[in-house]
Amino acid sequence: MDIGLNLSKSKELFEEAKKYLVKGVNSPVRYFRPHPFFVDYAKDCYLFDVDGNRYIDYCLAYGPMVLGHGNSYVIKKVMEQLERGTLYGCPTEKEIILAKEIVKRVPSAEIVRFVNSGTEATMSAIRLARGITGRKKIVKFDGAYHGAHDYVLVKSGSGALTHGVPNSPGIPEETTRNTILVPLNDEDALRKVIKENKDEISCVIMEPVMGNIGCIPPKDGYLEFVREITEEWDILLIFDEVITGFRLAPGGAQEYYGVIPDLTTLGKILGGGFPIGALVGREDLMEHLSPSGPVYQAGTFNGNPISITAGIATLEQLDEDFYRKTFRSAEKIYKFIGECAEKRNIPHCVNGVGSMFQIYFTDGQVLDYESAKRSNIEMFNRYFYGLLKRGVFIPPSQFECCFTSVKHEGEVIEETLRAIEEVFKKFQ
Ligand SMILES: *Cc1c(COP(=O)(O)O)cnc(C)c1O
Repeated sequence: MDIGLNLSKSKELFEEAKKYLVKGVNSPVRYFRPHPFFVDYAKDCYLFDVDGNRYIDYCLAYGPMVLGHGNSYVIKKVMEQLERGTLYGCPTEKEIILAKEIVKRVPSAEIVRFVNSGTEATMSAIRLARGITGRKKIVKFDGAYHGAHDYVLVKSGSGALTHGVPNSPGIPEETTRNTILVPLNDEDALRKVIKENKDEISCVIMEPVMGNIGCIPPKDGYLEFVREITEEWDILLIFDEVITGFRLAPGGAQEYYGVIPDLTTLGKILGGGFPIGALVGREDLMEHLSPSGPVYQAGTFNGNPISITAGIATLEQLDEDFYRKTFRSAEKIYKFIGECAEKRNIPHCVNGVGSMFQIYFTDGQVLDYESAKRSNIEMFNRYFYGLLKRGVFIPPSQFECCFTSVKHEGEVIEETLRAIEEVFKKFQ
C-alpha cells in the first residue's frame, strides 16, 4: 500500500516497534494501515514526522491540544514547576487554584476530585453513583465512549468500534449485564428502559455531544428530556465532558446547552497536554467519596503538580477570543467539506458543533450509532489517506472527531481547504 508519502523512516521504526509493542502502538486508535507515521516533534498546528513530512493536525492528540502544540506559556510554567519537584504525595496550593477555576466555569461543579485520565474519572463517577444510590445498573448510549474500563466497554465508540471489538473479551458478563444500552436521541427508548428498571438504575452516563463515533450532537430538547426523566426517577445524570469540557464553552456542553447534570467527568484539555482527569459535582454527592465518605477512590499521581500546572496555564488562555477563533475555523472547514461533497453528489452528512466536526459518507442524518455505522468506510478511508498525502492529518477513523486549535487560522485554513477540494476531486 503506497500512500504517496515518503515514510521510510517511520516504516523502519514501525518494524522495530512491533517487536516490543503491540502492533507498534500503545493505544489502538494510533494504528492505521500500512503503519502510522512516527512523530519527531510538534509545534502549533503542525506535527512533523521522522521523515520530515509536515502535517496540519486536526486530531490534536484526540482533543487535548486546544492551544496547539508547544504552547510557550504552558511550557514555561511546567519548567518552573519541574525545578520545584514533580510529585509530592502531599497537597499543594495549585490543586486549589485549578479546582477553583473548574468550579468557577463548570455549572455542575462544586467539589472536585482530580484523577489521571478520563477513564479513571468515569469509572469513579459510576462507582460514586452506585455507592450513593445503592443501585447496580447504569444506562449508557450506543456508541458512546467513556474510556477503557469494564463498566462501559459495551457497544463502545472510538477504537473499540474502529478495530471491531465493541464488546471486549475479558469483561465478565455479570459486569456488562448491569450496563443497559439505549440509542441516542430516542426519547421512547430511554423512557422504556427507565420504566422497566426503575428501582435498579443508579445513573445515566452520556457524552452530551458524542465525540467518539464521529461527532453527533443531541437533538433539540433531548438533553433537557434526559435531565427531566432522570430527575423524575431519582437517577443521577453524569455528563462525560472529557472532550466537550472547556471546548464548547468555559463550562463545557452543560453551559453550551444549558442543561446541568449531577456529576461531570473532565479530562483531555484540563491537563494542558499532560495526563489528567477530574470527577466533579454537587457537594452533597461528592462528599460520599473517600476520605469524607465510604466510596473509595485513590491515586498516586492524582493532582500531580505537573498536570495541575499545565492545566492552570491552559485554562488561563481560554478567553472569549479562543472560543470565537476555534469555532470559526471549524465551521469554515466543515461547511466547505459539505459543499465539496454536495457539488460532486457524494453521499454525505457533515456534523459540527463548536470546534468539533466530522463527515459521514451516507445519505440522511447521522444522529445515533446505527446511522453512524451506515457511513461508507471505504470512502472515509479514501478521504483520510487523500488528506494525509496532502499534509492534513485527521484521526484515522470514521469514528473519531476532528478538532481545531487556536493555531488553526489564516493560511493554514486555506491550505486545508485546498487539500479537501483536491481530495474530493479525486473521488470521481
Ligand atoms: C477520551 C475520552 C475518555 C477517556 O479518557 P482517557 O484519558 O483516554 O482515559 C472518556 N470519555 C470521553 C468522552 C473521551 O473522549
